[in-house]
Amino acid sequence: MPKKDNHKYIFVVGGVMSGVGKGIATASIAKIIQAKGYKVNPIKIDPYLNVDAGTMNPTEHGEVFVLNSGLETDQDMGNYERFLDLDLSPEDYMTSGMVYKAVIDRERALGYGGKCVEPVYYITEEILNRIKKAVHRHGSNVTVVEIGGTIGDYQNVLFMEAARILKIKHPDDVLFVMVSYLPVPGTLGEMKTRPTQNAVHQLNGYGIQPDFIVARSTLPLDHKRKEKIALMCNIRPEHVISAPDIESVYDVPINFERDKLGEQLLKALKLRPNTKAKHDGLAPWRAFVSRTKSSKDELKIAVVGKYFDTGDFVLSDAYLSVIEATKYSCYEAEVKASLTWINSKKFETGELKIESLAEYAGIIVPGGFGTSGIEGVIKAIKFAREKKIPYLGLCYGMQLMVVEYARNVLGLKDATTTEIDPKTKNPIIDIMPDQKKKLTEGNFGASMRLGSYLALLKEGSIAREAYGKELIKERHRHRYEVNPVYVEVLSKAGLVFSGLSPNGALCEIAELPTTKHPFFVGSQFHPELQARPLNPHPLFSAFVRASKERVTKKK
Ligand code: GLN
Repeated sequence: MPKKDNHKYIFVVGGVMSGVGKGIATASIAKIIQAKGYKVNPIKIDPYLNVDAGTMNPTEHGEVFVLNSGLETDQDMGNYERFLDLDLSPEDYMTSGMVYKAVIDRERALGYGGKCVEPVYYITEEILNRIKKAVHRHGSNVTVVEIGGTIGDYQNVLFMEAARILKIKHPDDVLFVMVSYLPVPGTLGEMKTRPTQNAVHQLNGYGIQPDFIVARSTLPLDHKRKEKIALMCNIRPEHVISAPDIESVYDVPINFERDKLGEQLLKALKLRPNTKAKHDGLAPWRAFVSRTKSSKDELKIAVVGKYFDTGDFVLSDAYLSVIEATKYSCYEAEVKASLTWINSKKFETGELKIESLAEYAGIIVPGGFGTSGIEGVIKAIKFAREKKIPYLGLCYGMQLMVVEYARNVLGLKDATTTEIDPKTKNPIIDIMPDQKKKLTEGNFGASMRLGSYLALLKEGSIAREAYGKELIKERHRHRYEVNPVYVEVLSKAGLVFSGLSPNGALCEIAELPTTKHPFFVGSQFHPELQARPLNPHPLFSAFVRASKERVTKKK
C-alpha cells in the first residue's frame, strides 16, 4: 500500500510593507489547493497582545469577525470562510496575547514543574500545539498559516521562529511563501526589486528561506525581473508569481492559477495528485467571478449608520461582511450592488434631508454601539417604514427598528434602548441580565452574547419564506435585546417577532407583514457573517429581491 502523505504546512509571511493583500493571498492559496481536491484549513496569526479582536476599534482595525464558537477574530478570518466556504474554529486563530496568556496561566498553575519558562521553547511550543490542534479539528491535508505583520517586525519573531522549528523537524512538509511588494516609483516608471531582495535577506536572518514569492505590484512582473528575483533570492523562477493590482479580490485565485501556483505548490510539497479531484475544481468559483462581471445594472442601497466619519478607506473595512453579503445576493439577482454610506448624524443636523433616502432601492442599518448618530438612524428607519422602502436592520439596526416602532406606532415617545438612556421609562431594548453583572465587574472582553445560537421561525413570515425552514443557526454579538416586557404590546401594534430563541425568551427577528410593507425586517444576529460567494445569505437575498422589485415597479 502506498504510504500516506504527511500533513503539509504553508506559511505565508509579508515582506516590504503591510496592506498589500497578504490575507487575500492566503485565502487564495488555500482556495486553489482546496480546488485541487485537498482538505485545507487556514490559520490566522495576529501578533498583537489583545487576547482577541473584540476589544479593538473597527474603524481602525477593521471588522470584528465572529466565529460560530463566539471567538471574536480578525476580518481575514471572514475572507478565509468566504473563499473556502468553510466554518472556522477557535483553533484557527491566535494572537500573541492568547498564546502568552495560555503559557503564563499554565506557569502560574505550576504547569511547567519548576522549569524556567523561556519564550523559545515554551511560547513556540504553544504556537505549534495550537496549529496541530487546528489540524486535528479539521482533519485536513494542508494547513495554510498567515503570520500577521511584516518581516522585520519585532512582534512576529516568535511566530517565525515556531515556523522555522517546524520546518527543521519536517523539511519536506513545510513551505514558505513571501508576499512582497515591488514599487514602481512614478519618477522612474520602472519596477524595483531591491526592497524584495532586502526582505528575503532579512527573512534569511531568521533562518528561513522563502520557497515562493508572490510579487504584488501595480503592474505584472516581467520576465527580466522574475529572473532577477530568482537569482538574487535563491528561488526558482517559476516560483516567483506575478500578482498585479486587479479589480476584484475574487480574481486572485484565478490569477494565481494563470501562473500555475497550485500545481507548483503541490509539486514543492511532494503531494501526489489527488486522483479523486475534479478536472477544474475552481469551476464554481470561475462561474461566480464571471457573474460579478456580467451583472451590470446597479442596485442603489443606502447604508445608514455612525461609523462612517473616518473616510471611505476605513469604513469599508469596518463593515466588510455587510458589503460582501450584499454583493453576493446582488450578483445572484444579476444586479450590481452600489452602496452609499450615509452618516446618520447628517439627518440630525439637517445637512442631509431625510427625503434624499427615497432615491434608494433599499436601506440597511448595520450593527453598532453607543449613542452618537442614533436619532438620525431612527429618522431613517421611520422614513423607510412609512415610504415602504425595503429595510434590513442588522443587530443595532433591528433594535432601533423596534424602538422606532414603539415611538411612532405605539406612541411611546420616550421609548429607547438603555444603551442610550439607562434611566428611560420605556426601555424597549434593555441590557441582558447576565450582561449587567459582567459590566459592573469591568469584564468587557469576550463577554457579550457571542457566536451561534438557534432560532425558530414563524410560519408564514418573510423570514421563514426566505430561509425555507423553521430552525436556523446564526451568529451573534450584542449585550442588549428586545425587552420581553414589551413584546406583547408591540405585537398587538402589528410588529411580528418572527424569529425567537427556541425557549421563546429572546427575540431574534422582527418584521412587518407583507400586507403592510414589502420588506421591513431586522435581525438580532449578524446574517452577514455567514454569507458566502457560492452561498449567498437568504435574508440578504430576500432584501435584494424586494429592493430590485421597488426599482422595477418605479420604472
Ligand atoms: N449595541 C448593541 C448591543 O450591544 C448592538 C450590537 C451590534 O450591533 N453588534 O446589543
